Amino acid sequence: MIIYTKVKEKGISLRLVHFFMIILTAFVAFFMLYETSRFSTVFDDVTGATDAYIELQKDANELMEASDYLTQEVQNFTVTGERIHLIHYFEESAQAKRRENSLDKMREITGESKAFEYMNDAMTDSVALMQSEYYAMKLVTEAQQIDHVPDEVKNVELKSEHAAMSADGKMKTAQQMVHDSTYHRLKDRIRANMQKCLKELEKQTHEVQNEADSKLEERLNYIRIIIFVQLVAIILILVMTTLLIIMPIMKGVRFIKKDEMMPVRGSYEFRYLAKTYNKMYDAFKKSIANLNYDASHDKLTGLYNRSGYDFLIDSIDLKTTAVLIIDADKFKEVNDNYGHAVGDKILQKLAMTLKKTFRSEDYICRIGGDEFVVFMKYVNDGLKDLIILKSKQINETLADTSDGLPPVSTSIGVAFGQNAQSTKDLIQHADDALYRVKERGRCGCSFYGDDAS
Ligand code: GH3
Ligand code: MG
Repeated sequence: MIIYTKVKEKGISLRLVHFFMIILTAFVAFFMLYETSRFSTVFDDVTGATDAYIELQKDANELMEASDYLTQEVQNFTVTGERIHLIHYFEESAQAKRRENSLDKMREITGESKAFEYMNDAMTDSVALMQSEYYAMKLVTEAQQIDHVPDEVKNVELKSEHAAMSADGKMKTAQQMVHDSTYHRLKDRIRANMQKCLKELEKQTHEVQNEADSKLEERLNYIRIIIFVQLVAIILILVMTTLLIIMPIMKGVRFIKKDEMMPVRGSYEFRYLAKTYNKMYDAFKKSIANLNYDASHDKLTGLYNRSGYDFLIDSIDLKTTAVLIIDADKFKEVNDNYGHAVGDKILQKLAMTLKKTFRSEDYICRIGGDEFVVFMKYVNDGLKDLIILKSKQINETLADTSDGLPPVSTSIGVAFGQNAQSTKDLIQHADDALYRVKERGRCGCSFYGDDAS
């Protein structure tokens, strides 16, 4: 709660948000990398199990093929009596040894598994089959009188009834031995065991695959969660940057364009920036205002000075403005008689009197040493009496010495904008009128175009 109020008051720190986002992104990236590597390991397990199955299936088939090959060669030998089949037989059984190699491979990969046991049984049967095959081959070699036969065949001792048989009888007996039902039963048993072995392999492979599959699914779920977290993080980053940076900047720019202070919103840093900008803006505006004031106002009286007058004269509405040029009479003498400081005080008194005499919307300027100009707004020549009255009030106040200041008087020349072609004309008219008052003996007012006072 305290943190919430603090955040609401001061704004969230961008530095903190940034730091938090970096940590979050790093975490998400790390877990993503970790999970994808785990995923690929599990995936390798799945493909590995399939590869192993294919390999083992090949081995199992190889044993069967080798066994069939031996059968085929022995059968051919008993039928044709050609020595080449004998050679082929022993090339397979004694040199290529495909059956033994396959069995070894099976043990190597699956260990003493059920599949191996079935294959081993098949191998045992195959080896058992070889005894009758050697016997049949011995019969053939005797019948065909073939020399240089392998020891396995040479060492076979024929039963006496077989030994006594004619060559033809020996050949027939040999053929019978490798074609009869006993021989085929054993062959079928080998085949059946190999089938069982393949089935077992398939079963094992499925088990491995299923296990790997569920692991794969598990890893995939983790990856999905990470992707979701990533998505949330991205949305969070977008929302944060929009709320804390982009929107405050856009708003700030709008206010700067309008030449206004910025709203203090957004992140802690942006609020700090906005506050600093506002402070500088305020100070700048104040200093500009001061500069303007100093440049357009008279230090002694606080009235508009010559620059202020020059500026104001361009803004007046000629038709509704009257101009009064007010000049202190014989002010040089006042200075000479009472000193410059007293002269200054009298000028201040005159300024104050003018302020009191005219309305706040009228502009009062000190355009020279003892010369003042008043722009009376919304005035026409029907208000001459009022102006005469004001002129009298001014001179009465200046004649009053109760404040300790010597008496002075003013001469006032008046002109109405409605009778002038331009502001320049208007000033000239007022000046002419003033000249006439001075000529007439001072202290009073004169309107341009007549002799009233
Ligand atoms: P006139 O009746 O014809 O106007 O006579 P004047 O003596 O007032 O003559 P003018 O208006 O030409 O002279 C203005 C005098 O005002 C000249 C100068 O001594 C005096 N003066 C100008 N500026 C100041 C000022 O700031 N302070 C004081 N005390 N006197 C000033
Ligand atoms: Mg004067």
